[in-house]
Amino acid sequence: MLLCSGGYGNVFYLSTNGRNSNVTAAWRCYKRGAYFANPCYTQIHPTCIPVSGDYQSKLTLMSESLRNDGRVWVPLKPGDTRPPNQIPDEERDYYLEKRYPTFGNLVPRDVASRNAKHMTDEGRGVGATGLAVYLDFRDAIERDGRDEIAARYDNLFQMYQRITDENPYEVPMRIYPAVHYTMGGLWVDYHLMSTVPGLFVLGEANFSDHGANRLGASALMQGLADGYFVIPYTLGDYLARNPLPPVNTSDDAFAEAEASVESKTQKLLSIQGDKTVMQFHRQLGQLMWDHVGMSRDRNSLKNVIDQIQSLRQEFWQNLRVPSAAHTLNQTLEYAGRLADFLELGELMARDALTRDESCGCHFREEYQTSDGEAQRNDEDYAYVAAWGYTGDEQAPELHQETLTFDHVELTQRSYK
Ligand SMILES: Cc1cc2nc3c(=O)[nH]c(=O)nc-3n(C[C@H](O)[C@H](O)[C@H](O)COP(=O)(O)OP(=O)(O)OC[C@H]3O[C@@H](n4cnc5c(N)ncnc54)[C@H](O)[C@@H]3O)c2cc1C
Repeated sequence: MLLCSGGYGNVFYLSTNGRNSNVTAAWRCYKRGAYFANPCYTQIHPTCIPVSGDYQSKLTLMSESLRNDGRVWVPLKPGDTRPPNQIPDEERDYYLEKRYPTFGNLVPRDVASRNAKHMTDEGRGVGATGLAVYLDFRDAIERDGRDEIAARYDNLFQMYQRITDENPYEVPMRIYPAVHYTMGGLWVDYHLMSTVPGLFVLGEANFSDHGANRLGASALMQGLADGYFVIPYTLGDYLARNPLPPVNTSDDAFAEAEASVESKTQKLLSIQGDKTVMQFHRQLGQLMWDHVGMSRDRNSLKNVIDQIQSLRQEFWQNLRVPSAAHTLNQTLEYAGRLADFLELGELMARDALTRDESCGCHFREEYQTSDGEAQRNDEDYAYVAAWGYTGDEQAPELHQETLTFDHVELTQRSYK
């Protein structure tokens, strides 16, 4: 079995992922014995169109490439509501260039995202919600000319203008971080096999290669490597070495799986409560964003575990799924997806709580350097956290796979 069902960023409700991306397939495997590794490592992309209202169902990514020429800034003074073009240069804070003179606007995604959050936390965010920063092409246009900038980015500028009704050739773009890529996933060995023999996991659905910080462009590289270079060899090897007795639907395991799906479906339909799946999903997403998002801390993680458990309880008592099971019922399908996200969310929070350090896309407020950068603890945490399911009402079991480095030493990077 090859499982290639993608990432689980939609646990946050709003993300750059397709609306139908979900964790269900991976989660069902987890509940049948496959370990789930590093669930809390979530990449948050700094260059997305900001949230503009409650009606939104997803977020739009603007390309990373825009930071090659766009300059990121906010007003120096909190609460400055002047239009951007009326704010003179000396009253602008090009905070990435100032803080990271070597990398400037090209710092990694987690660093750019966290800094944008700091700015909005300080009340220096821009736009109607205050949850955005500027990405400004004024200087690039002056330097290289409008035609050159259009040759590089016109398609993106048009997309931005269609969504926001603002022209980035004339006013700076407004951007804000959004959930983008999940580095966690089902644990696999170098053959891409999970802890369930014969279950192979490829692409974003597995945890491999990215550590705590996805490197630029390597999600697709990993998918390609998994599919083109690894699995053709390892799967053949597995098939050649293992007998594969025929299986049919009279097997007890099939009857048990069918009965459990049937019972879950009937349960979801029978609640007939007051709240829609989307209402619950938004609530879960907000909890995840606020507590398991760009920055986390011990107390808030402990609280959110309780809150997710309560929300899950409420879901099973007050959900309303219209219509029936034996028609095409997309709300029923969505409810099943959300039931899985409600369990995954708790595991993500537990994983984040256990990891008492900051590293890449896991930033714990308690663990930062004096100048606010991520403070790793390689001595105690240089391991993959692989979680094993032990039952619905029990805490999952943590297995640690030590990371060993033969050729490259672990070092702390600086982008200053
Ligand atoms: C907007 C955006 C831009 C990106 N840009 C880049 C980039 O520039 N560079 C880069 O490297 N990466 C990028 N990424 C990340 C990269 O695209 C993804 O990580 C990658 O596509 C994942 O591939 P995948 O095959 O593992 O999963 P997916 O492409 O998500 O495919 C999973 C498939 O499984 C199906 N599926 C899911 N659940 C089930 C189920 N229960 N049953 C049956 N089928 C199911 C889905 O319908 C889907 O077809 C971007 C991602 C997004 C969202």
